[in-house]
Amino acid sequence: DDEGTTAPVVVDDLRGLVRGTVATAADVGFEDARTVWNGMIDRRPLAVVRVGDEDDIATAISYARTRGLPLAVRGGGHGVSGNGTVESGIVIDLGSLNEVEVDAAAATVRVGGGATISDVDQVTIPHGLAVPLGVISRTGVGGLTLGGGVGWLTRAHGLAADNLLEARVVTADGTRVVAGEAGDPELLWGLRGGGGNFGVVSSFTFRAHPLPDPVLAVNFVYGEPSWRQALTAWEEWTRDLPDAMQSIITVVTPPAFFGLGDDPVILVALAWVSPDRAEGERLVEQLRAQAPPDGEETDTSGWVGWQSAVDPLVPWGSRAYWKNTSFDRLDDEVIDVILRRGAEQRWVGTAFDIHHMGGAFARVAEEATPFPARSARFWLNIYGFWTDAADDAHHTAFVKGFAQDMAPFATGGLYVNFMGHDDDTDWRAAALAVYGPDKLERLVALKRRYDPDNLFRLNHNIPPG
Ligand code: FAD
Repeated sequence: DDEGTTAPVVVDDLRGLVRGTVATAADVGFEDARTVWNGMIDRRPLAVVRVGDEDDIATAISYARTRGLPLAVRGGGHGVSGNGTVESGIVIDLGSLNEVEVDAAAATVRVGGGATISDVDQVTIPHGLAVPLGVISRTGVGGLTLGGGVGWLTRAHGLAADNLLEARVVTADGTRVVAGEAGDPELLWGLRGGGGNFGVVSSFTFRAHPLPDPVLAVNFVYGEPSWRQALTAWEEWTRDLPDAMQSIITVVTPPAFFGLGDDPVILVALAWVSPDRAEGERLVEQLRAQAPPDGEETDTSGWVGWQSAVDPLVPWGSRAYWKNTSFDRLDDEVIDVILRRGAEQRWVGTAFDIHHMGGAFARVAEEATPFPARSARFWLNIYGFWTDAADDAHHTAFVKGFAQDMAPFATGGLYVNFMGHDDDTDWRAAALAVYGPDKLERLVALKRRYDPDNLFRLNHNIPPG
């Protein structure tokens, strides 16, 4: 894969400057290197630098900065708005920096900036430890954590970002900075929700938590006639639950591999992450008695299996458009909206989740991180995804229409990691909707310090001025 004569001159010299690899249009493998998870994003970078170490990050940053080239930063490539690639610019691909080191005695885990959730789980679970991350194992820890990171341990231990203790960052001028008590605590604050605005994180250090494996993990299945009873009972049940019980509702037309037929179903997935299994069984039985499921399954695959169980639902290359909202009421009026949208959604692809929040997540003070809406009881994630470009308008309209239906019930604060590629047209309105005025001001001050020229702008941007 030598550079051909057609390779733009501008990137030829880059190859000799880094330890990692450089892919240009002249290289075999460029098609793979230029794409991201969201198949709607079709961009041709000048070069994708798969960095080999922290020095490569600094080299690629300086290369782009001194030539005035747009710069994209990619962790796991799952950013829904597609900022992990760029037209006619440089991509820093962190995928090779995926090493994971556990300090079992200190219960901390150091994770390379390009690791996936799966990379982390595979190393920590044999130590009986888990880091709170997300629910699809191929998602990058980088983008996930810098935006927040919501998953099966959110109620028990908070967001991924809440468990971030320290990060090593390469900034716009190539300086290496430690974010945290040993360096700059304000930078650590900014990284807990402020995204990739302040620099490239070469490694994250997380607090890990003891986890019984397997946890008690159960799926209840409800056909359409049982939906109202299921949602009403679930709302009641979630009012008084220990932190260790996490539950996520998914409203989905099941793909064939679920083996649940062709009609939309509500899945109520429950994960009890405490070693007191009998107490977990008792709580599961409470919900079962209030809303007897039409089917149920107990997962026996263990944590790594549970965390990757629905990976095949959202394959690389899916076309995607997502939105998120938070709300406190799940009464008949809101249930009406959910039932109508759920029944309308008769295709394999686009679906939605309702997460029960609270617990350790809610006990983190609102101003302790940039992440918004700590007090919301519920979150709705509407994830539009499909394969055929001819369906773009249909699925996008469904997601937007559903989000509009929910607007009257929204309690404020959007999740930056679920924003679509068109949500940044007015960056200020977008950033205000996510962070609110006070946190935005603090983030802007940090941005001015670390990236005054807005080199890191291919993200949900916080411009310096
Ligand atoms: P990338 O596209 O690689 O990165 C996104 C952005 O983050 C980049 O543009 C860059 O600005 C920044 N970035 C990434 N890594 C670094 C780094 N090391 N240093 C500096 N900046 C960096 N979110 C949840 O909270 N919970 C879930 O369960 C969940 N499930 C998901 C499942 C799927 C299939 C998908 C597509 C997304 C899911 N998300 C979830 C949303 C996810 O958190 C975001 O899409 C996130 O941005 C993905 O991170 P990434 O590193 O894979 O993406």
